[in-house]
Amino acid sequence: MYTTIPQYFPNAVTIRELEDRIVRDFMDRHLELKSSIWATSLCSDEVSNMFPEFYHLFAGPGPFQLGGISGLPFTGVTGLKAFLSHVPTHGAAMILYGPHIGVSDDGRIGHVNRANQFASSTCCGSLHAALTALKEGKELPISNPLDYQQARVLNHLSQYRDEILSAENPLKKATDYAYEAIHKKVHDILEQVQDELEDIRLYLLGGIVINTDWNRYDYFEVHHQEFYEY
Ligand SMILES: [Zn+2]
Repeated sequence: MYTTIPQYFPNAVTIRELEDRIVRDFMDRHLELKSSIWATSLCSDEVSNMFPEFYHLFAGPGPFQLGGISGLPFTGVTGLKAFLSHVPTHGAAMILYGPHIGVSDDGRIGHVNRANQFASSTCCGSLHAALTALKEGKELPISNPLDYQQARVLNHLSQYRDEILSAENPLKKATDYAYEAIHKKVHDILEQVQDELEDIRLYLLGGIVINTDWNRYDYFEVHHQEFYEY
């Protein structure tokens, strides 16, 4: 694990280091963290709840969750509008977004050992399932209300089927493309809610969550860091 992470994620930092970075960035801009709230667009997987350090930084009980499986912002325009309407007066908002990928103690990419499980399991399970579907040439109907999120994930990755399947590590490649899709969707949705952004300072932090075995620290590799003042 300790050689795999720097090899595949050279810019990964611990969650504690990410917290320091957020605090520093807010201070540099004279923003009050306690007058700010945060949202996430991360996978629904319970291992995505690895930012407890952030709970005491911001106002409110916790993040507004914009994401669904894989981390795509499934709550869409309505969800982001709701989040923005909760920002304290003259306050700021942070959106932390991205897909996740496991790296187990034995260095297996796409797996983690979860608490009280005897063997490793897949991480991200949604991207793993999409990868299997790509290999088998399977499709999922978007119209199925009982599994439409996974159909959307597969739909995004299908555009890059050849690149993903021919990659040295197909799951890592799928994760990179999932990041691109999440990043683009977050920005596309922001374009649609410009009217709600008046008087809001917005801090966007996008990257890849790297989950490790349950008794280890997790990591985050920052890919985009942006600040907007409206
Ligand atoms: Zn996942």
